[in-house]
Amino acid sequence: MDDTSELFSISIAVRELAELSRREGGLSSPYYGGISGPEGIALHREYARLAPEFFPGAEIFLEYGLSGSYAHSTLPYNLQVKGRCDTIAVENKEITLIEVKSFRGSTRFLPKNGDTVHWAQAKIYAYLLGQSNFLTTNDITSDKITVALHYLSLDNGELITHEQRYSYTDLKQFFFSICKYYLDTRMALILHRERRNKHNSKASFPFPDLRLGQHDMMREVTAAIRDKQVLFVSAPTGSGKTIAVLYPALKAQAYGLNENIYYLTPSRSQRTVAEEALALLRQQGFLIRAITIRAKQSMCAQPKYFCDKNKCPYATTYFERLEDALTEFSHKQDLLPDDIFALGKKYHLCPYELSIDLMDSCDLVICDYNYIFDPRIRWSDKLDDSKHRYTLLVDEAHNLAERSRSMFSAIIESKQLEQLKSILQQVTVPDDPSLKEVLVAIEELETLLNSYSKALSNDAGDDVKEAFVKEHQSLGLFFTNNFYATRKIPPRLQSCIPRLNFKLQQFFEYFREFPQREKANTIRFDLLHFQNIAEEYYDETYITAVRCLTGGKTALSLLTLDASQHLTKTYYGKSSVVFFSATLEPFSYFVSLLDANFKIDKPEVLKLSSPFSKERRLVIAYDEYSVRYRDRMITLPGIADLILEIVSQKPGNFLLFCPSFAYLQQFKNYIKQKEIPEILDIIVQPAGMNEQQKEEYLRRFTSAVKDRSLLGLTVLGSLFTEGIDLKGDALTGVIVIGTGLPALTPEREILRQYYQAKSGLGYQYAYTWPGFNRVTQAAGRLIRSPEDCGIVLLIDDRYSKPEYQQLFPKDWDIFYADDKQSCLDRIHSFWSDIESTSI
Ligand code: SF4
Repeated sequence: MDDTSELFSISIAVRELAELSRREGGLSSPYYGGISGPEGIALHREYARLAPEFFPGAEIFLEYGLSGSYAHSTLPYNLQVKGRCDTIAVENKEITLIEVKSFRGSTRFLPKNGDTVHWAQAKIYAYLLGQSNFLTTNDITSDKITVALHYLSLDNGELITHEQRYSYTDLKQFFFSICKYYLDTRMALILHRERRNKHNSKASFPFPDLRLGQHDMMREVTAAIRDKQVLFVSAPTGSGKTIAVLYPALKAQAYGLNENIYYLTPSRSQRTVAEEALALLRQQGFLIRAITIRAKQSMCAQPKYFCDKNKCPYATTYFERLEDALTEFSHKQDLLPDDIFALGKKYHLCPYELSIDLMDSCDLVICDYNYIFDPRIRWSDKLDDSKHRYTLLVDEAHNLAERSRSMFSAIIESKQLEQLKSILQQVTVPDDPSLKEVLVAIEELETLLNSYSKALSNDAGDDVKEAFVKEHQSLGLFFTNNFYATRKIPPRLQSCIPRLNFKLQQFFEYFREFPQREKANTIRFDLLHFQNIAEEYYDETYITAVRCLTGGKTALSLLTLDASQHLTKTYYGKSSVVFFSATLEPFSYFVSLLDANFKIDKPEVLKLSSPFSKERRLVIAYDEYSVRYRDRMITLPGIADLILEIVSQKPGNFLLFCPSFAYLQQFKNYIKQKEIPEILDIIVQPAGMNEQQKEEYLRRFTSAVKDRSLLGLTVLGSLFTEGIDLKGDALTGVIVIGTGLPALTPEREILRQYYQAKSGLGYQYAYTWPGFNRVTQAAGRLIRSPEDCGIVLLIDDRYSKPEYQQLFPKDWDIFYADDKQSCLDRIHSFWSDIESTSI
């Protein structure tokens, strides 16, 4: 080895280095592997207990830490390799080094002579051991070592062993060749990062002037990254927040403060905004290799295979062509989903898996929240690696608060169990005991669900209900029509889900081929997630809920009321995080939902003012009408008449946000009977609108006819509440009917009770604040650029109450109106002022 003292070092784990030896084969996951998690700890203990039996008389070393380095004269880097080998046995001055792996199912599925990657791992450890002082300390003189793989069955403790004897010279050759391969294949990346750092440390901001607040935002983002802190930023539309987080994050990366940046968004449109900001920065001289990750279902090139990786031709020989595809994109800066899809098609590689493999060479990843926070699909290998320094930039962070509740919740429906049963019943081995056992376990769960639905049914007699209440009282029962919830998991459920999963696992291990296996597997994953939530997450923030659905079906859920602890654990102490959004009001609400440690850590918060002129937006709180559920039908005619007058007063385009689809229908029916003003066109959002319908709806706004008004009916909280950008004359008015309160459901009521007990602010947490956030989101559709102008009309008498007055953003100058004429007069004078200033 050469002198490495002057060289820049790259660290790599033995396990990761060994993975490079898998340069053949496909994506189907082996049914054996390393030991991890609680099961692994137990198995390691068991192996440690058994080791003296396997090596009688030997001195045993367990979990032995080893490290070493590699350098080559042609490469300007030195590779530092580290890891812990499972077991070393020393007997009669001879060493056996053992890698222990676990497996389930039949031994016939194990690779005949051991897995290539496991051999590579063991051989690397053996080489590192030879380089350490272990040999001299233990007085070993032999120039050879026995390397072994031990596969221990998780089902029955059966042990399968493989052994080979190597000289240290052979091991050195192996180690050098795999390290050189690693450095060679990663040179492009290493050189890119070097160049990137040089360029990006010098590149300047893409605009000559900073917008109001951008300087503060960039300073705080830099500080958060440097100090690995959490930062919350409320930055209204137009403050240039995307560039104001990306620019300092890329600068910090150039100065070595983080390795990777994850830009997280809830929607595709937000991903496009980030891609456009990166394009601007590249024009300014930034070198940024960025990838946008699109969901698997949109990246699948062979949907007919239902992701059966043993059959899909884009998966079966994946590793054989992967390197060529990676090389083709090695110099590309913007790795966009459509291009990756085309690359996958060209090389016959699964486009989704290819995007994940390309990600390793990128400086910045644009993706959905799920990949970072959702325990089902989180990239744990990367994100939980303590050596990995990264930054999370969470755009539209108000969405994460609600979404995190569903990420850490689980649901199983009775119809899924029926489907699973029907698939398995068609497997052509009816007498197989493992199939019978699975079917019995499914039926056990079905019986339990049936007992719930029987008690919840409208037809249930009082005696059935009373017996049910009595049985579940001790679990903290909440019981209403068609719904039941407890604060604990009922003991029968706690035992029958793991039993079913265990039986399913055994069945799936032995039966690798049967019709609709992947569909059954999807249901199995839902059941596993359910068990995972029950065992790893379920705490005092959870309820177990059962709801009767239409057609006699039942849904069983483990719902978290407060995901903040679990969410915070995903990033706390691991990365810096910037949560930013145009609407993070009230701050205390969002901070408490997104950062469970806020009381101790006191994260930085930054609130920017809108850079747009207040005079170009008129906000009216119209309090003549109540839109409370009980009053809606009484006040609808008056509200509809008011709106028809406003939209006819002056040609323009209006989005009307109704409190629900039912209200929207009633509104539509009411105005149908009216004489619609000559200049007015009306369009209506259908429920379950698809992407094409959405585009058509928006196109009506961007191509509206001059001197006519357009009224687009939609629903608060639906897909037009955020993520749409109607600039200039495309939108001149936003009308919101009601305060956006979420629907009254038993789950909401329990949520209210939970926060009432926790903070005394139950109603605000469950209703007022999430509702008002939708209102501010809807209002935020109006002003998208300095040239935009228009009116925001909020209709509900609650808007003039102090609790709402406190919530209004400081840069909203509210005009309170309680009668039609004063409202119309104010709108008229607003437009006169606008016209006079634009002459
Ligand atoms: S191409 Fe589709 S079916 Fe094939 S492995 Fe990829 S996601 Fe699965």
